Amino acid sequence: MHGRTRDADRADEPHFGVFQAMYRASLKRPSDGAQWTGITTRLAERLMETGAVQAVLTMTADPNDRWRPVPVLITKASDLAKCRGMRMGYAPLLQLLEPARDQGIKRLAVIGIPCQVYALRALEAELGFEKLYVIGTPCSDNTTTENFHEFLALIDPTPERVTYLEFRADYHVEVRYADAPKREIPFLMLPLSKLRADFFPLTCRTCVDYTNTLADITVGYMGGQGEQWLLVRNQRGAELLGLLGNEVTLHSPGSAGKRAGPVKGFLKNTERAAGGLPLRNMPNWLRPIVGWLMPRMGPRGLEFARARVEMKAIETVLHLRRNEPRRLKSMVPDHIWPLVKPYGLSPTSKEEKL
Ligand SMILES: Cc1cc2nc3c(=O)[nH]c(=O)nc-3n(C[C@H](O)[C@H](O)[C@H](O)COP(=O)(O)OP(=O)(O)OC[C@H]3O[C@@H](n4cnc5c(N)ncnc54)[C@H](O)[C@@H]3O)c2cc1C
Repeated sequence: MHGRTRDADRADEPHFGVFQAMYRASLKRPSDGAQWTGITTRLAERLMETGAVQAVLTMTADPNDRWRPVPVLITKASDLAKCRGMRMGYAPLLQLLEPARDQGIKRLAVIGIPCQVYALRALEAELGFEKLYVIGTPCSDNTTTENFHEFLALIDPTPERVTYLEFRADYHVEVRYADAPKREIPFLMLPLSKLRADFFPLTCRTCVDYTNTLADITVGYMGGQGEQWLLVRNQRGAELLGLLGNEVTLHSPGSAGKRAGPVKGFLKNTERAAGGLPLRNMPNWLRPIVGWLMPRMGPRGLEFARARVEMKAIETVLHLRRNEPRRLKSMVPDHIWPLVKPYGLSPTSKEEKL
């Protein structure tokens, strides 16, 4: 769908996948209820408003649980408002593709996380839509909605009041409430040691597509330094961004700090955790201090995004070696090995592709 594979010699393609252009971006008027400023759902609204598509396949929330994603086929632009925001959990988005086709939809947009987009691309040709626009968001890790409720209960005494949660690129979790000021919790102060070792399933911990490389456009935040982060991957992605006109502010992404130290630390912690969550070996009194220093001294902007992609690549290799060594050869694509090489990880002769 991009006409080529990632260019190993072009800055940042080895990390983020094929792209034509990359931006730090915000909607001038953020949408109510959006996870960030709402670029994702606004792109889909514009596709419907302009008649480019007849429907959008995405997630809404379960009426009884705001955190539980439920697949929905939207046929009215105004209904996209109820899809805004991030929900933690798995739901079978693509099961609505065939019903969409059977009800005569020929031009469709899909909003999905990487694992959904990967499967969508595999099915695309046989589904035979006349036009398919793919808006992707990055995804680091997902878990069941039940597990996520356990996490909420650990970080908040009244988890039912939480209306918004985000793991921000400044090393803080932001928690919002309908009836109280927001809280910002440094990552280091999260009660990760209380979570079960398999909180994130092996499928997420061995995912090699954090940045949703098969989407036409990726809309995330991790390279955005407090704003959103856009990767326009092909002509269709450029067409999508064009639909926003001057509703969107675009800047070149920034980059600061050095990732090598934190990524090495992550590798050590992951090895030490022996299959569980990588916990930092640090006394409690030091945590608030390091938590204060990280957003100021740690990798920021694109350097933060590169660090996270390398951490995910390291996790993939270590967890597969530990849990599914025979699958490593087929599950680790070639572009992963150069990302982990600076940290001393290379394929053994058994792990090398034929
Ligand atoms: C589990 C998960 C992990 C993520 N991790 C990262 C990350 O590490 N780094 C990063 O940059 N971005 C991550 N994102 C994406 C990020 O949370 C924002 O969705 C993205 O930045 C878009 O913001 P927005 O304001 O444009 O979205 P909005 O306009 O608010 O739209 C959000 C869209 O995401 C869809 N959505 C919500 N929950 C799910 C779900 N569980 N499965 C599938 N689709 C869903 C909604 O239906 C909606 O279409 C993650 C998203 C999810 C769902």
